[in-house]
Amino acid sequence: MKVNRIALTGFRNYEWETIDFNGETNVIYGSNAQGKTNLIESVFMLAYGRSFRTRFDKELVNFQYSSTDILADLTSHGREQTVNIQIRPGNPKKILVNGVKKSANELSQTLNVVLFCPDDLNLIKEGAAVRRRLLDSAIGQIRPQYNEILTEYNRLFEHKTRILKDWHEKPSLLDTLDEFSEGMCRCSARLIRYRAAYTARLREASAPIHRDFSGDGEKLDLHYQTVSTVTNPFSSEKEIYYEICDHQEKHRRAEIESGQCLTGIHKDDLEIMINGNSARNFASQGQARTAALSIKLAEREILLSETGEYPILLLDDVLSELDRKRQEFILNRIGGGQTLITCCEDEGISGRTGGKVIYVEKGRVKSCT
Ligand code: ATP
Ligand code: MG
Repeated sequence: MKVNRIALTGFRNYEWETIDFNGETNVIYGSNAQGKTNLIESVFMLAYGRSFRTRFDKELVNFQYSSTDILADLTSHGREQTVNIQIRPGNPKKILVNGVKKSANELSQTLNVVLFCPDDLNLIKEGAAVRRRLLDSAIGQIRPQYNEILTEYNRLFEHKTRILKDWHEKPSLLDTLDEFSEGMCRCSARLIRYRAAYTARLREASAPIHRDFSGDGEKLDLHYQTVSTVTNPFSSEKEIYYEICDHQEKHRRAEIESGQCLTGIHKDDLEIMINGNSARNFASQGQARTAALSIKLAEREILLSETGEYPILLLDDVLSELDRKRQEFILNRIGGGQTLITCCEDEGISGRTGGKVIYVEKGRVKSCT
């Protein structure tokens, strides 16, 4: 999969610009605050229909513009395709694939990207939310229905949280509490099976990458952790549903008393082990970074096996955060697909990667070689 050309109108600090990409490596360089990450963000939008930096689409619109338009020519699934995203604050976002209206969730059927930014390097040491986000966005790329169930779960979760917070003032709110809890259990049973299945694939794909990468054959292992009453996350949806309901029932009183939603898959985690020890607790900074890289590269391999094509790899500012050995490892592994790499002028990365060099200054592309 590759993006051949992108035309941005009123997107972030781009007023009007068209950028042509090479099908392999593209190094986007320039000083700070010139529009490198903005360009990466626009390509990310083509696969997700949303940004990775903000939940608010209106922030994507150039300060001087009332709307933004992203138009891209792609090659994916063996043919030429176009994606157009139009954002006009106050109106629903408009997404067209080959001129046909689509939802944001459906974009992953046309284009897939894997983003790797400095935050991802903290994947191992940070709290569970970061790892859950990784699972959610990776699964959503290959299973669009996952996003729909997750959206429904989050909607129910928000309602339930509000009931638990406000019932003291309005006790009748508790009448609907069980209805929301039950809906959440139903969604959870389905989401757990997706998360468990994806973790198993990620474990299988990341272990050999990490073994190579670590040099001395370190063993990387991943375990999916969910609600404690779930004995087997691969069992039937019905069985998992009853096990979650059981957990829910046991915590009902505590939830009402504490005013908080204590049980559910919004607390799930992906446990990462290196040589049998918890990486979060015991890995060195270098080991943790290596593991994060291995997991991200594994995400790319899984997309290849799903679609038969490599997704576009977006490396935003990540190479400058890595030592030379890790940089080389990544650069040696990214063949076969299109990659967009951002870096600052003085890092000398463009000289080592080959491919196209795109120089960005104040929201304009100054030169391409
Ligand atoms: P760095 O090397 O520091 O990461 P960068 O080149 O990646 O820099 P970007 O994150 O792409 O920089 O941002 C470039 C500029 O775009 C910033 O100065 C930012 O303030 C500006 N910007 C962000 N949103 C908008 C917007 N909606 N309208 C106009 N400018 C914006
Ligand atoms: Mg940047």
